[in-house]
Amino acid sequence: MKVRLRDSIPVRLGVGVLVVTSAAFALMLLIAAKQEENQYTNRHLNEARNIAVVTAAELGDLMMAGGGTTAWSTVSTKAVQRGQLVGALRILVLNKDGLVKAGSESASIGTRIDTSNNAECPACDSAHAGDFPTSAILPTPDGSRSLRVVSPIPAVHACKACHAQDEEIRGFITIDFDLSSLENSAQERRRSILMLGLISGMVMLVLIALLFKRLVMRPVHALIESVQRLASGDLGERTEVLGRNELGLLACDFNRMAERIEEQVTKIEAANTESALLYTLVTEASKNLETTDFAMSLSHVIFEKLHPAHTAFFLETADSSWICAAAGKQQEEIMARGEGTLEAALVSNTAQVQQLLGGIPPELVTDALRTKRLQFKRQREELTLALPVVAEERLVGLLVCVGVTAGIRVGEEMLNNLGAHLMLATVNSRNYTGAITDGLTQLKNKRYGLARLNEAVFAAGRYKSALALAMCDIDNFKRVNDIYGHPAGDAVLKEVSRRIADCVRRPDIAVRYGGEEFMLILVAADVDSLVMIGERIRQAVAMKPIGLDAAGGALEVTVSVGITDFRDDSDNCELFINRADRMLYRAKQSGRNRVEVDLCNRS
Ligand code: GH3
Ligand code: MG
Ligand code: MG
Repeated sequence: MKVRLRDSIPVRLGVGVLVVTSAAFALMLLIAAKQEENQYTNRHLNEARNIAVVTAAELGDLMMAGGGTTAWSTVSTKAVQRGQLVGALRILVLNKDGLVKAGSESASIGTRIDTSNNAECPACDSAHAGDFPTSAILPTPDGSRSLRVVSPIPAVHACKACHAQDEEIRGFITIDFDLSSLENSAQERRRSILMLGLISGMVMLVLIALLFKRLVMRPVHALIESVQRLASGDLGERTEVLGRNELGLLACDFNRMAERIEEQVTKIEAANTESALLYTLVTEASKNLETTDFAMSLSHVIFEKLHPAHTAFFLETADSSWICAAAGKQQEEIMARGEGTLEAALVSNTAQVQQLLGGIPPELVTDALRTKRLQFKRQREELTLALPVVAEERLVGLLVCVGVTAGIRVGEEMLNNLGAHLMLATVNSRNYTGAITDGLTQLKNKRYGLARLNEAVFAAGRYKSALALAMCDIDNFKRVNDIYGHPAGDAVLKEVSRRIADCVRRPDIAVRYGGEEFMLILVAADVDSLVMIGERIRQAVAMKPIGLDAAGGALEVTVSVGITDFRDDSDNCELFINRADRMLYRAKQSGRNRVEVDLCNRS
């Protein structure tokens, strides 16, 4: 939202300053003009009083010496001289009734000025000398103004010889002064004061504007912008503190408030991320209890929720080997495994492990292994972490995330909570996997295999989905034990199991059914491909002799395979297994190292 120009503080302030300074200067001018006029009037009042006194004395003398026309003409001559001396326009000498007896303007002699209540002859109806001198400003015929000063002609001693003894005033002297020169100079002065006022007003305005901009508007604008950015969601916004005045304090308070908001929002977002992450983790972990599935689902959940550039979840299995599920922006989800403890694998830091760690700083992993605690680093706003999963003081897992962006609010507390959940889920997964896995071969055990076969048979019966079953048995295995001993027999069993497990797809289930007998539940297997699958298993075992010892002894081992497909309505688990068994028996009877297939659904 924008502030309208007329509502903006600087505009309003500027107009205010202009109005106030103009008014102040106008008032100053008015006062100065008034003072000047007063001074001028006072000066002329004194001059008029002096002229009146001198004229009265002269008149007394002249009248005593005979008076008459000669006396008045002398007074007129003196009036002309005095008028010139004091710069008056005109001097008139009046008797008490207002008759002009003499003066500097001969045309006025003999005329009459009304003395009763006349503004042109102020106080002339007064009989007391104490009421004078008086003055009035009068318009002149040429349109300008003149100052008229009236002074009484006092009754001097000589006057009282012929006139009333107790009168104070014998007449008046009016002196007119031209005000135009005074007004011209006042106008001149007014103009220069106005100019000065205008210039100083402008300078003041510019100074105030500069100061106001620097002290008020800059910090206010900075603050407005920061508030707008914060309001639009930029929680990292902080404003610049410009000075230590009230606005500086306000900026400090804003920054403190923004910090608090960011803290609270971070907490809320972290709590949201945490609960979403933990909820998904718990659901996924309970759906995918088997170690491999668990590791895959976990790396998937972490990738989906935290969006790191790379993540990997290492997990130690119950049989002292490790697996790792990794996901990243630049790669497909991968599953890797290795022999030995997880700690040893991480310490060895082979090329495979390095690739799985996805470029995490090595010291983070080393410190995580040493301290068995979360290690993390924030680089360029991105979070990289190594979170060890420790159960009974043993490292059983390690989660690494590289490049978790700042947008995802992840706190240390949340990661430690995640670690605690991971520990429980990992231990559960290890226990569950141990309970369904055959310890020697790492294939699924018979109990688990039969339970899954039951489910698969039920699903195949209901959804008419394809299902096949293979039974495999190592040929003449007893002889291996007899000739090379049981440990060698175990080694052969392990290797044959590994080769068989590698031949089946991920949804298929490889089960150690008995001593050297294996059951393979082949889900959604195309009927036409069953012979090929059986052959693939047979060849995978027979293809290469199995090494027995470090000295290089190797043994050629073969398996016989019996396969059958599921028969819709009439079939059940028992019939299904028996049929596969019969095929296996047939393969043995037919000379071993063979595949026998019993198919009814062949197209
Ligand atoms: P065939 O080709 O007819 O299957 O002959 P075979 O010798 O393989 O069959 P037989 O059933 O006679 O022998 C199976 C042998 O497998 C007997 C048993 O000692 C051995 N065996 C079963 N379980 C294990 C095991 O866990 N470890 C070892 N080393 N041997 C085992
Ligand atoms: Mg056998
Ligand atoms: Mg057997």
